[in-house]
Amino acid sequence: QCPWGAPNTTSISCSLADVMSEQLAKELQLEEENAAFPEVVAVAEGPFITGENTDTSSDLMLAQMLQMEFDREYDAQLRREERKINGDSKVSISFENYRKVHPYDSDSSEDEVDWQDTRHDPYRADKPTTTPRKGFIGKGKDITTKHDEVVCGRKNTARMENFAPEFQVGDGIGMDLKLSNQVFNALKQHAYSEERRSARLHEKKEHSTAEKAVDPKTRLLLYKMVNAGMLETITGCISTGKESVVFHAYGGMSATEDKVIPPECAIKVFKTTLNEFKNRDKYIKDDYRFKDRFSKLNPRKIIRMWAEKEMHNLTRMQNAGIPCPEVVMLKKHVLVMSFIGKDQFPAPKLKDVTLSTDDMKKAYYQILNMMQQLYKECNLVHADLSEYNMLWHDGKVWLIDVSQSVEPTHPHGLEFLFRDCKNVSQFFQKGGVAEALNERELFNAVSGLNITADNEVDFQEEIEALEKMNEDHVQNHGKKLSMFSSDGDPPIYDE
Ligand code: ADP
Ligand code: MN
Repeated sequence: QCPWGAPNTTSISCSLADVMSEQLAKELQLEEENAAFPEVVAVAEGPFITGENTDTSSDLMLAQMLQMEFDREYDAQLRREERKINGDSKVSISFENYRKVHPYDSDSSEDEVDWQDTRHDPYRADKPTTTPRKGFIGKGKDITTKHDEVVCGRKNTARMENFAPEFQVGDGIGMDLKLSNQVFNALKQHAYSEERRSARLHEKKEHSTAEKAVDPKTRLLLYKMVNAGMLETITGCISTGKESVVFHAYGGMSATEDKVIPPECAIKVFKTTLNEFKNRDKYIKDDYRFKDRFSKLNPRKIIRMWAEKEMHNLTRMQNAGIPCPEVVMLKKHVLVMSFIGKDQFPAPKLKDVTLSTDDMKKAYYQILNMMQQLYKECNLVHADLSEYNMLWHDGKVWLIDVSQSVEPTHPHGLEFLFRDCKNVSQFFQKGGVAEALNERELFNAVSGLNITADNEVDFQEEIEALEKMNEDHVQNHGKKLSMFSSDGDPPIYDE
């Protein structure tokens, strides 16, 4: 008999193999997550201050860069801790509010409220109970009044507990810390303004304004443009979309650029979020112009490619004389172009203007011509053409938003064109333009192809057959047809 009694054999509920495989699964999961959502501290990108952007001329900018670097490291650490704490628990805790880089946290001192100016002081301690009404305790020599330094100091320390929970006060009571009134007041003031700041932060998060919709890096990029004299001021946001944010800016007088900067500019910032580019990759993946580059690139670079694509497409259009924004410059994922509109008011979208019957007809023929030019002279299909991406300005239609435009020989190019035609036909037929061609006629008129199917389904099928033929040609000959064979030039429609 064992003198300590029989060891109660605790049954282990799972085997070692189970534990191991669970651990393995967790590791794999983590690995996968890391691959899908790389840390913001992208090692591939290297340190923020690299050769190309070492601009030491501005102290402010240097300070900002250093601060940014620090903040990013801090946040990365925070994220690691968050992950560690949450583990694989079903309920997780977010550390988001403790992050340094908060997209909404701009200048925190802009509207600081002095707590002494406000009547309500949320940090007023509970009624002191340690000192009775008469104002002193004890008798004779041992009397202590409420003004006693030690008592008061301890009380002050205890009051710190009333500060907002995120305000770290440490264990002052445990170490019998005695805070002087002066120090306590200073701390209280700080704690209060911190809470105000934190409250504003959350408020801003809810009504996140467009200005805050860009990440710090982008903000710095914009700041640099202003600093370099490229832009005079960035006045505000015109549009926030799923994939981009557009700002208005007054052009500056940059001495270095040989180009004249337009008095008003539009800045299109392509969003650098991962989920968005997934929707787009069907456009770019198959675009042979970007094909060999696509596979090797990281998401950040792919976003830049969208901006680049929009720039190239706009330039082609510009050269063909199609009314569209003029490219001013491209920096990473930020495209600066001329502003269509006046005095900060962007020209209205075609869907938002009411045109006279005459103007409507004029607009229709103009668009028909532009689509033909786009196809023939620019070798492009807009691929997102609708009343949402056409602006009415100076008595004519301007085309915008061409980052997704592709060449007609793109594997889905003709389908995109057909979709464009559907949008345009519908809009103008509903808008009362009797002359408006239907979508199939419009498609033939733009492409110069002669698809005879008289219903949508068959038409679509023939389009896809053509696309397939082209793809087969690529397979067999290793290169694309320069154009789809057509039965001569498309007929020119005019008023
Ligand atoms: P998105 O991909 O978000 O649709 P767009 O290029 O269509 O991006 O731009 C969004 C909006 O911003 C447009 O509908 C238009 O109102 C405005 N906008 C874009 N570019 C310009 C410009 N050059 N001039 C004036 N307004 C513009
Ligand atoms: Mn658009």
